[in-house]
Amino acid sequence: MSDSFKTLDELDLTGKRVLLRGDLNVPVADGKVTDATRIERLVPTIREIVKRDGKAIILSHFGRPKGKVDPEFSLEQVCEAVANVTKLPVGFIATDWIDVSEAGAAIDDAPEGCVLILENTRFHPGEEENDVELAERMASLGDVYVNDAFSAAHRAHASTEALARLLPAAAGLAMQAELEALEAGLGKPKKPVVAIVGGAKVSSKIDLLENLVSKVDALVIGGGMANTFLYAQGLGVGKSLCEKDLADTARRIMEKADKANCAIILPIDAVVAWEFKANTKTMLYGVDAIANDGMILDIGPSSVERINAAIDDAKTVIWNGPVGAFEIAPFDTATVAIAKHVAKRTHDGHLVSVGGGGDTVSALAHAGVKDQLTYVSTAGGAFLEWMEGKPLPGVEALKK
Ligand code: AMP
Repeated sequence: MSDSFKTLDELDLTGKRVLLRGDLNVPVADGKVTDATRIERLVPTIREIVKRDGKAIILSHFGRPKGKVDPEFSLEQVCEAVANVTKLPVGFIATDWIDVSEAGAAIDDAPEGCVLILENTRFHPGEEENDVELAERMASLGDVYVNDAFSAAHRAHASTEALARLLPAAAGLAMQAELEALEAGLGKPKKPVVAIVGGAKVSSKIDLLENLVSKVDALVIGGGMANTFLYAQGLGVGKSLCEKDLADTARRIMEKADKANCAIILPIDAVVAWEFKANTKTMLYGVDAIANDGMILDIGPSSVERINAAIDDAKTVIWNGPVGAFEIAPFDTATVAIAKHVAKRTHDGHLVSVGGGGDTVSALAHAGVKDQLTYVSTAGGAFLEWMEGKPLPGVEALKK
């Protein structure tokens, strides 16, 4: 049960054809699924549907076939992996599910307790156009609708939005867990809240920064994007990545933060190198004395100490983006140290921690703490839009 959106326990599933919007957009090489994480996330919902005597009929996109039938993007290639992961018999309903009489008969004939997968929703141009007629065809194949694909919820497509409005609809168990974690991270968080935002560029995160400064108590800015903020304050950043044309934007964000009583925590020291390669020569500088010919590739130890002290005062941390160029040692040092600190405070019961988006998941995995935060979202685009404060059409359609 949730106050805001409908959950699986509020739907009658007995004897029902359950249209389950999943995310089967998994990586495939040589016809084999190479990472089944997204399939694994669907298992609790599929099991629940089968346990309650419903028929699970999965709808999903796969790749970008751009509204045309293209065998390269057929979902048939993931059926075996779904069978292996769910340990249930899996049936496939090919392209002609658009002919609802044929697909409907196949669904009716399918035995109890099996899972059916409909061919790629994006084979039909109406999917990405959120076409109601296509959604009506989908709706005629089911009695109820369950959306368990948070990672596709930022898109208003026929299978995520229009369809949800045509049948009794609810969030699946993975979607519910994600929404509850995000609510704890930013919706109704325990205060004080510290947001950590890193990554390469300010330009890709303007909306996110603007939203966060009005919601959190402190905003840590690290990574390449911190250089633009340092530059906007009149500091030299040498040959570092820096979007000089965004200095005004950076100043506006700092002013907005000041008015909203959000402390901005910028680096006070930085690790500088002259080449971006592993174990190259590095020097530590205060940010008021960066070498003219060097590049800032990580924040320094005093900055980490300051950030970790802010984390000690916080009850909630939300995190997007590494604070250094973590793919190459030693520029992963600060990201790893902060990640371990967040994990420890979470483990000790002092902190609710939520991370996700872009490279954050691989940075947390690199630090060995991916499973030690309260919640790590693997939904890239949807997670970022949520952090930007934008309504997600696929979630809005499930609201009570
Ligand atoms: P994003 O996808 O925006 O989260 O950016 C992640 C990327 O930012 C990673 O590939 C990091 O290597 C990069 N990054 C972080 N800090 C820096 C920095 N100081 N200079 C250049 N790139 C950085």
